[in-house]
Amino acid sequence: MGSHSIGSVDTPFWLDEPTRPVDSGSKGQVDVAIIGAGITGMSCALALARGGLRVRVHDARGIAEGASGRNGGFALRGGAARYDVARETYGAEAAKQLWRRTEAALDRLEAIAGDAFRRTGSLRLAADDEERYEIRLEYEALHEDGFAAEWRDELPHLRPEFRGAIFHPPDGSLQPGRFVRHLAELAAAEGVAFREHERVGSLDELEAEQIVIATDGSGRGLLPELDDALWPARGQVVTTEPLNERLFECPHYARHGFDYWQQLTDGRIVLGGFRDFSILTEMTDEETTTEPIQGALDAFLVEILGYMPEVTHRWAGIFGLTQDLLPLVGRVPGHDGTWMAAGYSGHGNVLGFMCGELVAAAMLGEDDALLELFSPSRLLVSG
Ligand SMILES: Cc1cc2nc3c(=O)[nH]c(=O)nc-3n(C[C@H](O)[C@H](O)[C@H](O)COP(=O)(O)OP(=O)(O)OC[C@H]3O[C@@H](n4cnc5c(N)ncnc54)[C@H](O)[C@@H]3O)c2cc1C
Repeated sequence: MGSHSIGSVDTPFWLDEPTRPVDSGSKGQVDVAIIGAGITGMSCALALARGGLRVRVHDARGIAEGASGRNGGFALRGGAARYDVARETYGAEAAKQLWRRTEAALDRLEAIAGDAFRRTGSLRLAADDEERYEIRLEYEALHEDGFAAEWRDELPHLRPEFRGAIFHPPDGSLQPGRFVRHLAELAAAEGVAFREHERVGSLDELEAEQIVIATDGSGRGLLPELDDALWPARGQVVTTEPLNERLFECPHYARHGFDYWQQLTDGRIVLGGFRDFSILTEMTDEETTTEPIQGALDAFLVEILGYMPEVTHRWAGIFGLTQDLLPLVGRVPGHDGTWMAAGYSGHGNVLGFMCGELVAAAMLGEDDALLELFSPSRLLVSG
């Protein structure tokens, strides 16, 4: 199985490249303190600073060192639920709006991401006949509502055998660590201050008029009612050495998104998933790799490649799940001046970028129909 250090917190591949330190900026009172220097915190900080507010971002670690630098690098439109299920659960119009808005967010992301983003499309695979039936429903619902989607029956490049797929043309591949660090540089240039490597123990210690909690699945202890509504889940990922063969042109995912992999331009495979092999132990905010999941990832590499490549990076990350798979974005009920954007249920690259902007817009006084759909009060019992 190679020389991997199970149980340690390894550097994710995405963060394993040189970076420039971001200017930490001024101390003292600010208009807004944001907790969390991930994709949500950065897009929120940038939008607030552009709106004329003084902002400081706090993080227990460094920029992008939470889930934002530890994920699979899939940049997907939509929410975490299947589109046909979203139509039934959230209502046809709400689901359509959500998908359209994430497509627009992908366009904005592309416009500023530079070489951190590639518009490749993505392939959502059916691993068996039941899943084929389900994604067929999703494909038909997307088609009915005018979203670009292509059905694929022939998948000759893939083993094991899959039973069809939806190709989603607007999706892409993101180097999430690079993108978030780039957002941080843009925010710093707008005057945003940073306080890294210092955990916020209590909201009372922040010298700010208003607060944004942007901690997705890793903010335990900040507010008890958030701990009840946002369930931490662990995902594990591996990256291989660069392979000579080009096998996968775009991000691939199967088994309801439990397994996901992509090949980068230098030939490396980034593979994550198999949380369901040990679902209870993976409902945790302990950021560590484990033998059962790492073993399953290695076995799947052999399945898709026919041999075991060298694995250069292994890591774990924590994301926030919600009961209805929609994020919580807006005012935290019962806490004046406290806002939040979190809970993307494993789908936070585009949603986090969009919801950071959305909460900033709400703070600047703009109304938005999505804020009703994402209202924290639907799941938070105020404390
Ligand atoms: C293994 C894995 C794979 C994933 N794959 C994908 C994918 O391919 N595509 C996709 O769209 N999404 C994916 N996700 C989900 C996505 O990564 C997250 O939803 C997204 O990055 C959340 O960003 P964020 O900025 O809200 O939170 P984070 O990036 O988690 O940032 C939160 C920050 O808050 C800080 N923090 C927490 N508490 C405190 C405190 N008390 N004081 C100070 N700082 C604090 C943390 O240190 C952390 O840096 C994946 C997640 C994981 C873990």
